[in-house]
Amino acid sequence: SAKARGRGNAVFFEPCMGKEMAERVQLAERLRMALSYGGLQLHYQPQVRIESAAVVGVEALLRWNDPVLGNVSPVRFIPVAEASGQIVALGNYVLDAACKQISVWLKAGTPLRVAVNLSAHQLRQVNLVEQVSSCLTRYEVPPQWLELEVTESQAMLNLEQGREVLQGLARLGVTIALDDFGTGHSSLAYLQYLPLQRIKLGREFLSPSPCRDRLMGGIVHMAHALDLEVVAEGVEEVEQLDLLRDIGCEFFQGWLHSRAMPAEQLDAWLVMV
Ligand code: C2E
Ligand code: MG
Ligand code: MG
Ligand code: MG
Repeated sequence: SAKARGRGNAVFFEPCMGKEMAERVQLAERLRMALSYGGLQLHYQPQVRIESAAVVGVEALLRWNDPVLGNVSPVRFIPVAEASGQIVALGNYVLDAACKQISVWLKAGTPLRVAVNLSAHQLRQVNLVEQVSSCLTRYEVPPQWLELEVTESQAMLNLEQGREVLQGLARLGVTIALDDFGTGHSSLAYLQYLPLQRIKLGREFLSPSPCRDRLMGGIVHMAHALDLEVVAEGVEEVEQLDLLRDIGCEFFQGWLHSRAMPAEQLDAWLVMV
């Protein structure tokens, strides 16, 4: 849409192209440049243990500030990268940058676990396990400092294959988190098939509703029965944090604590809190 594109940005249309299509072509083209000139950056959002308020890890979130398009949300460009095949290069960039940052933190004596989002396409790549493995080796990162986040729909696209890849990754020693749990078309049965350490509850669950507290409580209870930890995402209000504490949810992420930020900024900020 014109709004998403921002004002004053010229877009040229081929007559045969729909508007949406033209926009995706432009995004793919700009993304290709961003990948080559280093225009993408990882920001890191703290994951906090509710009981102690300790930062136990961070989620790496991709940021793209394009000279022409301005800030483009990953919600917008990840699907484009998937469709154009650029997701392979993008995914490798993210894995590499995250492992590099883990090694920086390890060497500084301030280790943090970093969670990296995987795309559906990466999960279908047969060599993903080797890629992750060589990334860890390249930066001499012990596997327990890397977590990989997959969504239900990604893992379920091809359950057998998805499970095999995740098991390969788990054998490396990295941990796996199920992202946006309960928001897609999922089956609870999958929870016992996949080698998961934790589930992440989308912020949809936190919006007020008559049975929100009981629903959340039930999910946390079920997760714990399956030896899964729970991370609540998108926590913006104290009242939400109070609920999470009451129902025994261990971890949260959200603007109430902090937004995602560049590593150096996070370092400075963690020293202060
Ligand atoms: P996600 O993995 O579920 O990430 C959580 C999203 O919630 C992030 O949006 C984060 O900035 C946002 N968020 C965190 N706390 C709050 C809060 O308190 N309130 C609200 N309203 N939002 C909050 P972001 O960074 O725009 O990323 C959106 C999605 O794009 C991610 O959802 C993930 O699916 C995808 N993504 C981001 N980075 C990558 C990446 O490196 N690779 C892949 N494949 N996907 C990525
Ligand atoms: Mg995520
Ligand atoms: Mg999520
Ligand atoms: Mg954020």
